[in-house]
Amino acid sequence: MFDLSGKVAIVTGGNGGIGLGMARGLAGAGARVVVAARNSTKSDAAVRELGKDCLAIATDVTDEQSVKALIRDAVARCGRLDILVNNAGINIRKPPHLLSLAEWRQVIDTNLTSAYLCSHAAHPELKRAGGGKIVNIGSMMSIFGAPYAPAYAASKGGIVQFTKACAAAWAPDHIRVNAILPGWIDTDLTRRARDQVAGLDENVLKRTPAGRWGTIDDFRGIAVFLAAPASDFVTGAAITVDGGYSVVG
Ligand code: NDP
Repeated sequence: MFDLSGKVAIVTGGNGGIGLGMARGLAGAGARVVVAARNSTKSDAAVRELGKDCLAIATDVTDEQSVKALIRDAVARCGRLDILVNNAGINIRKPPHLLSLAEWRQVIDTNLTSAYLCSHAAHPELKRAGGGKIVNIGSMMSIFGAPYAPAYAASKGGIVQFTKACAAAWAPDHIRVNAILPGWIDTDLTRRARDQVAGLDENVLKRTPAGRWGTIDDFRGIAVFLAAPASDFVTGAAITVDGGYSVVG
């Protein structure tokens, strides 16, 4: 049910943070993981840690040619593609009236258009493999708004709807498409947020029923579940991994 032996998985942004946590889960379950991100030093370190025959392919997910090259090279080197995790993401924290068009586009391109580009390029290969799994990463801001994250919230709301559209379109191809909505997780991204948003640390600890920030290893299990045969009848879902953050007022 949870065995990924013989499967090939691409994880965008798999060289750190939540992406690395999911890559650890997938590799641990037997998958060959392709780490797709820009910083080669970080990607090489991740691949060394993941071990086995995992590899890194330098990729900018906002660039269509780079994404096409990623899928082409991954299939050329690994022979197939079964799992795509659209995880790469950024945030620019400003209220809407201070956010420039260039900043809006940078966040939407990195968080949302990237998922379209990668899924679009991966679809023929997933189909050729007889079906597959796509996992998109949303956020609590797929559900809630925040005054300092207009483009981020728009991108993460969009991810959930894009997930549903792909799930419906590609079910006949045996491709299951789901989203994970992380709560507040301790990564580089949120370390910057803690510096920029007054009182964030205290508010997260107070509001999260689990009483702690999430860790990147909290994402190993959900990644394996959504990539494995165990979730074959799960598609179009948005699953929170948030220590209960979203269920309390
Ligand atoms: P990190 O900053 O730790 O990781 C972000 C990853 O995205 C890095 O691996 C980075 O690699 C990659 N990345 C960014 N831009 C690009 C690009 N243009 N092309 C390729 N890769 C890119 O953040 P997190 O681990 O926290 O975030 C991962 C995902 O989880 C994001 O989608 C984020 O929105 C989401 N999330 C995080 C939460 C949290 O609390 N941490 C909560 C909810 C959602 P490189 O710089 O090498 O390219």
